[in-house]
Amino acid sequence: MERDKSKSSYFSDYLKPSQIILDLEVNDKKEVFEELLDLLKKQKLIKNKKPILTRIIDRERLESTGIGHHVALPHARFNTGVKDIAVVVGRLKNGIDFDAIDKKKVKLIILIVWNPAIPGLFNHLFAGLAQFLSSDKFRKRLFTAETPDELYKILSEIELHLPPLEDKIIHRGRLLWKLQEIELKKKKAKKQELKELGQQAELIRAELDKALLDRFDRLMDRYGFAVAEVKDGTCMGCYINIATGMSSAIEGSNDIYVCENCGKFLVSAEREEK
Ligand SMILES: [Zn+2]
Repeated sequence: MERDKSKSSYFSDYLKPSQIILDLEVNDKKEVFEELLDLLKKQKLIKNKKPILTRIIDRERLESTGIGHHVALPHARFNTGVKDIAVVVGRLKNGIDFDAIDKKKVKLIILIVWNPAIPGLFNHLFAGLAQFLSSDKFRKRLFTAETPDELYKILSEIELHLPPLEDKIIHRGRLLWKLQEIELKKKKAKKQELKELGQQAELIRAELDKALLDRFDRLMDRYGFAVAEVKDGTCMGCYINIATGMSSAIEGSNDIYVCENCGKFLVSAEREEK
């Protein structure tokens, strides 16, 4: 496993001011994806828009990429044949519905297309972004920047590290929970349904770190479950109380932690059913 912590890069390695667009006027998700992909095409960072649009919409259907606080990180794994990562940033004039985790309308969208042949690349980028975007101060600057150049300068401050597995895993809780749901459904599914579930699982697996997935699969094999909810400070996987500090950090968050007692992944129990 390559986990060289000294090897860091900056988000701006993948971005130019010409890949940023402000005051977009759109009515829904699909329109904004179209606009942003048009810009990527104009910048010659993708060759063909349609297959990427389909991937993004498929992924979005599975689980919204609205990470909260008016920000969304839609993405698609696709080998563009140009670069390993293509990024485009759009800020909207008026927020749109995104089915985001906090139900807030989305105003800032960072769309990422990445080459699935490079493992770990996307996770690296996503974790760095999500961590930076969790700061109120930083987000406020992004929402008030007046020109693409100004927005570019702010985004250039984002330093990307490979996220160590022993730490919490940012903004992936719902995704991991969803993967467990799919894997459990697969056990009872009939042949026809199995294929569709397999495709959904693949979509999720493609954007999670290999070390995390290895651990997930080991836990699924051993216990039939890998992810447990935390309710009233108790791990629902082993019914042991977890540390108060960790429990309050997990509450209402979309991050992943690990139970010190049973080793299962812990996620917040507060999730609204659609
Ligand atoms: Zn436990």
